[in-house]
Amino acid sequence: MNVDYLIVGSGLTGAVIARILADAGQDVLVVERRPHMGGNVHDHCHPSGIRIHTYGPHYFRTDSQKIWDFVTRFSTFYRFEATVMSQVDNKFENWPPTARYINRELGAQWQPAFSGQPSNFEEASLAMMPQAIYQKFVKGYTEKQWGVSAATLAAELAGRFEVRANGDHRLKQHRFQGLPLNGYANFMANMLAGIPVLLNFDYLHRRKEFSVRRKVIFTGAIDEFFGYKFGKLNYRYQIREHEYLPDVDIFQPVGQVNNPNRADAYVRTLEWKHMMPPQYARNIKGTVITRETPATPNNPNDYEYPFPDRKNKQLYRRYRQLAAAQNDLLICGRLGEYRYYDMDHAIGRAMEHARTLLAQPKPVRYFVENIYERNDYASAHKL
Ligand SMILES: Cc1cc2nc3c(=O)[nH]c(=O)nc-3n(C[C@H](O)[C@H](O)[C@H](O)COP(=O)(O)OP(=O)(O)OC[C@H]3O[C@@H](n4cnc5c(N)ncnc54)[C@H](O)[C@@H]3O)c2cc1C
Repeated sequence: MNVDYLIVGSGLTGAVIARILADAGQDVLVVERRPHMGGNVHDHCHPSGIRIHTYGPHYFRTDSQKIWDFVTRFSTFYRFEATVMSQVDNKFENWPPTARYINRELGAQWQPAFSGQPSNFEEASLAMMPQAIYQKFVKGYTEKQWGVSAATLAAELAGRFEVRANGDHRLKQHRFQGLPLNGYANFMANMLAGIPVLLNFDYLHRRKEFSVRRKVIFTGAIDEFFGYKFGKLNYRYQIREHEYLPDVDIFQPVGQVNNPNRADAYVRTLEWKHMMPPQYARNIKGTVITRETPATPNNPNDYEYPFPDRKNKQLYRRYRQLAAAQNDLLICGRLGEYRYYDMDHAIGRAMEHARTLLAQPKPVRYFVENIYERNDYASAHKL
């Protein structure tokens, strides 16, 4: 198959690049090894009518008008503000804990348990809160999530939460926050509409079938791309167990409850009805809950969270150097850059990549091959 841009992976990164290149009149082919498009934002419906985010809950949030304008081309979004609680001492408490909660539990004279420059996640967390609160809310959750002592994790990981002085427990607010009305699968299908996409197609097993005129844009795992030459990058993921409770209308107060208690293997309990538009949710009988238990994946299809420590960062840098040496290759996205990207960041970054690709001059080889191979390309697209 001859193609100008071969995009490996139909997740947000691949789909955004494909859309922008196709809109600019470029020839693009997307291949995807899963049986569905959309990568990790994919969702599906339980027979009860409850929509489940297949790879864990995805809350869309952005402060960027440009990104919001882009995503709303492919779906209407309904307003949704994620609220998270933690189950501690057999009660549902707000997450993240507020100063008001800590005052109530420990008295107003409390101090953070660490001062100075934090060198790891544990110290960075204790720089915000007393030891007792850290033990209840953070330590068990984090150590179950990553499978190691919190003191071995990078301090930056604690940047994802804070203790609010003003009692406001809501997650960080954004200018635009919502969920696509007809689900993420539909949103991603609309984004890729009119672009050829081959599903169940593992590029790494079939690379020889392509002659790519301009660039391979690979959005899978960078270590897998290079055959794990320097060793495997570490990831964590969640094993998800769904349960339909036909006689329960609402199981828990919010869509996401953290379970930091070490007696439970799982770290989060999700109830999807809370994430649906209320006018649909209230007509559905029963509820679906999902328990998420962290584990270390072997299969790259299960890779979810890059491991936040120095060893893996260094290993990633070695793979990045290999990738940078190949002009006809761009490895990007959350797996390609070994970074946790929120959806809006993944989209913003993909937009930048697409802009850079469009600004690059066409190689001389391109003009010659394009004359002789246009027919091959047309037939490839009919596959
Ligand atoms: C559990 C979890 C929860 C999240 N929740 C949120 C949230 O609430 N809000 C938010 O903003 N972000 C969230 N995110 C982040 C969001 O999922 C990412 O921003 C997004 O998935 C990035 O898209 P991507 O295209 O880079 O990667 P992916 O979605 O992983 O897409 C990569 C695609 O490449 C395909 N692929 C890989 N190798 C090959 C190959 N060899 N051949 C063919 N295809 C291949 C894969 O099958 C996959 O479809 C969450 C992430 C996780 C893991």
